[in-house]
Order: sequence, then structure tokens, then C-alpha cells
Amino acid sequence: MAGRKAGLEKMSEFSLEDKKDIRLRGVWAADRTKGGVPPLGLVRHFVATAFVVKRFEDGKKTILLLHKKLGAWLPPGGHVEENELPQDAALREVREETGLDAQLVNANLKVFDELKKLDGERVVQLIAPYNLQLELIEENHYHIDFVYFAKALGEKTGEKNSESMQVKWFSQADLDEEKNLWEEVRLGAKKALQEVEC
Ligand SMILES: [Zn+2]
Repeated sequence: MAGRKAGLEKMSEFSLEDKKDIRLRGVWAADRTKGGVPPLGLVRHFVATAFVVKRFEDGKKTILLLHKKLGAWLPPGGHVEENELPQDAALREVREETGLDAQLVNANLKVFDELKKLDGERVVQLIAPYNLQLELIEENHYHIDFVYFAKALGEKTGEKNSESMQVKWFSQADLDEEKNLWEEVRLGAKKALQEVEC
């Protein structure tokens, strides 16, 4: 998860002409309708993230990890490995970083439910993420992030998994109050608390 996010906000407001600013260059490279060829040295990795929700006696909460270098709370997530499905990567990262087992919530379940009956098993429907976003990590390094919502399974409540990371369950009120939270993460976490039924 290290260096996972930096956030690209309001992409549509930027002019595609200004290629001096790396934020703008990333947006330009992402815009295929302009016929743009990615600049040399540009890397865009697939990553997967999950906002995991669990119901406690005092209400629903979502788990975040404190990234010490960045000084910010982030959801579990990381690079998708070669030949790995994004949905499997999300669950693997949740397990590795929090010790939790979780089940992803499918954002498209009702929209494309018919697909299950078509064409035998040649086409299998994957779990749709709730958001797909491009994140600037450092110059010429971007992440294409499959952002899933999930519910925690079992009684486990997660644990500190390494010396560099601390985990904490956030309620809606905690999310509002926390200062070390990027707005992009605050938004995703709050939406997960609203959307995930558990
Ligand atoms: Zn990367």
C-alpha cells in the first residue's frame, strides 16, 4: 500500500495544454480522445482497494490503516499481481494488512444479472468495483485503482499487522473528525458506510 494514493481531483477542470505540471501530464496521458501517446517512462499500475465495513454494538464502522510515512489513514489495498484478478487482490490485501476475511459487495449485481445465464461459462461476471480511479503517486507513476466495498466476515476485528501500520475502525463521526484523512478517502469511507448492509 506504500505510496498508494495522492489523488487526482477535478480532472475535468485542468487544461490539457499545460504539460509542465505532472498532475496535468497524467490527466493528458489518460485522455485517449485526444490521441495522446503516454510519455516515455510513464508507468500506470493496477491496484485494488477495499473499504471494509463491520457492524459493532454502536453502529457500522470501516477499517483504515495509518500509513506512518504519509501520516494519513488509508483503506487496505495494494498492487494487483501478474495474472491476479483485481477482486482477489483486494481480498488478499485486506487479509494481509488487517487479518480480516471479507466479502466484496458487487456494485453491478442487478444491472447485469442476465450475464450469468449467457454463453455457458465462457464469460464470467467479475465483481464490479464501486469506483475506478487514477491516482498520481509520484512523477510518471500512476495507479489505476479498483475501489471495492466489502463487509467483514466472522468475529475478528483486525489487528496491527506490522510495526509500520496501526489499524482503527472509523464510524461516520470519526471520519468527520479525523484530520489525517485525505478527502478522497473520507468520501469513499463514508459512502461505504452508507452503502454496505451488514
Ligand atoms: Zn505502483
